[in-house]
Amino acid sequence: MNRASIRTIIFLATVSLVGIIATQYFWVKNAYNLEEKQFNEQVHFALRNVSRKLLKMNKDESEIVNPVKQMSSNYYIAFINDTVHPFLLKTLLKKEFNARNINIDFEYVIYDCFTDSIVFDDYVAIDKEDKNELQSQSQEMKWDRDGHYFGVYFPSKRTYIMNEMGIWVFSSSIILIIVIFFAYTINVILKQKRLSEIKNDFINNITHEFKTPISTISLSAEVLMQPNIVNEPERLKNYANIIKDENNRLKNQVDKVLQLATLEIDKLKLENEPIDIHELINESVKSFEVIIEHQEGKITTYLGAKKTQLIGDKVHISNILYNLIDNAIKYSPNNPRIEISTENYFSGIEITVKDNGIGIPKEHQKHIFEKFYRVPTGNVHNVKGFGLGLNYIKTIVEAYNGKIKLISKENEGTTFIVKLPFNT
Ligand code: ADP
Repeated sequence: MNRASIRTIIFLATVSLVGIIATQYFWVKNAYNLEEKQFNEQVHFALRNVSRKLLKMNKDESEIVNPVKQMSSNYYIAFINDTVHPFLLKTLLKKEFNARNINIDFEYVIYDCFTDSIVFDDYVAIDKEDKNELQSQSQEMKWDRDGHYFGVYFPSKRTYIMNEMGIWVFSSSIILIIVIFFAYTINVILKQKRLSEIKNDFINNITHEFKTPISTISLSAEVLMQPNIVNEPERLKNYANIIKDENNRLKNQVDKVLQLATLEIDKLKLENEPIDIHELINESVKSFEVIIEHQEGKITTYLGAKKTQLIGDKVHISNILYNLIDNAIKYSPNNPRIEISTENYFSGIEITVKDNGIGIPKEHQKHIFEKFYRVPTGNVHNVKGFGLGLNYIKTIVEAYNGKIKLISKENEGTTFIVKLPFNT
């Protein structure tokens, strides 16, 4: 799938999802408003009935046309200006609410008309038959004073309405699941795409890396097959050297891919033999002597560790050192100055490889240990590689319960720090 079609898919899917979410939001909001309107009406009717009944019981002839006022979204007041007995009010309220299927906790408050102060308030939990102290007190109270009005407050009105909208909550949850699933799918598509790009890069690299030495060797062999070449021993030697060098190069590339193949085998087989880390470092540095001289660079070692023996696999640990030094040279275009140092920490050896190369931009640092990952250089890779070395190093280091970290600054250089426990 190419980039344009992925973009189109993501765009269309996002537009349709936004459409679905907007429609859902519109309908849910409408449904909520409708539900709330019904609730308010029912409460109005209930409170109006309670007011009428209270007036009737008090033998008050006055007819208040509309005593109920909604003060806020969940607070209602009935202005009746009459005697209001708490227990009676509560009983009437419960009865009226029950008749209208309003099964929600509420708080009722009785006010004094003259001072507008609260003279009584109580909380009624609908599913609890509360025989609390306040209630028994309220039953015994004598209320023969005139001039009260009452208010009813529903603390959990919003939740109650939401609960009443079960089907909407269900459909919204389904849409949420779809959105999460969509985000996950897009993430997988993008990951797969990156992986396939990386693999393509790898194949291109490997083809290029193998083709060049093979054709050079083939051309040199042709020259060596010329009958009169024996008369030109210098030329013969030259071509033989070319074949040897290219063969070495080929061997290095094959080794790198084989390192990967070793890791692919489910269980990494590691030898556990005593090795001297300083010996391995000196050997690795030696193998780079020619190339470092050719690039007019320098490798300096500060081997400060006192305890230098550890138990590990000589081949793999040499490969770690080899890969780190190789990278330090590869990514330091001008006169590489490489410093390798060691020191002991309480349970092992810390090896540091520092270069003065191009550095690794911050945003790529967390990725460079991923398999096939190479810091993108805008399609021009003047330094060849497969993006396997660091992944291999990390796998081996972690297999020995060690740690690898890096400190790097663009255009200033990179330092890799490897901690390997003694494993004794
Ligand atoms: P390769 O070097 O074969 O591409 P590696 O896994 O060894 O693969 O390294 C991954 C990437 O990390 C490299 O492509 C390079 O971009 C970056 N990198 C590794 N070592 C260094 C270094 N010493 N200096 C700068 N960049 C580095």
